[in-house]
Amino acid sequence: MVTKPSFSEEIASLLHAVHANSVKTCIQCGTCSGSCPVARFMDYTPRKVIAMINAGLKDLVLAGNTFWYCASCYSCTVRCPRGIDIAELMYALKRYSIWKNQYKEGLVGPVFSETFVKTILKSGRSYEPVLATSYLFTFGVQEFLQEAQTATSLMLKGRIPVLRPRIKRLENFRRMVRRIIPLGGD
Ligand code: SF4
Ligand code: SF4
Repeated sequence: MVTKPSFSEEIASLLHAVHANSVKTCIQCGTCSGSCPVARFMDYTPRKVIAMINAGLKDLVLAGNTFWYCASCYSCTVRCPRGIDIAELMYALKRYSIWKNQYKEGLVGPVFSETFVKTILKSGRSYEPVLATSYLFTFGVQEFLQEAQTATSLMLKGRIPVLRPRIKRLENFRRMVRRIIPLGGD
């Protein structure tokens, strides 16, 4: 009989896939949390998140903002005495949270990630005019005008393409992305 992997085993296999050390080897020294520039804004420090993963507290981990607030500075990764790639763990948790469609309400990160991937699926390339306009209307009028002005001057200077760029063999690319991230193509 096939048994369902535990939360910590699922995360372990995501880390194994990128050749990162297992979080099971963590000694809870706290160096990662002490090195993290954004730890004070996190619901749980990196050290605590690792303890929670090892304790199988999946719902609590996914309901926290820790991995969405990670700035990917890698300070924790280079200082961890057990060689655990904590920054990569934060990426793994982001992917896992999107796959499971389970994340804290009101965070910009998950919505932005989904919008970004859907934009990429359209043409194979990032296209700022569409991505930016998804968010511009959530700003105030002054910010909207300021952003629109900046975008127009970047476009006039050729820094933002007027037409959406499109890659060759787009279908192959879409299939590949959908295998990694199960999102719709709209
Ligand atoms: S620095 Fe490494 S060993 Fe120490 S608590 Fe963080 S992950 Fe665990
Ligand atoms: S990589 Fe993320 S978790 Fe690690 S120190 Fe930087 S911000 Fe904190």
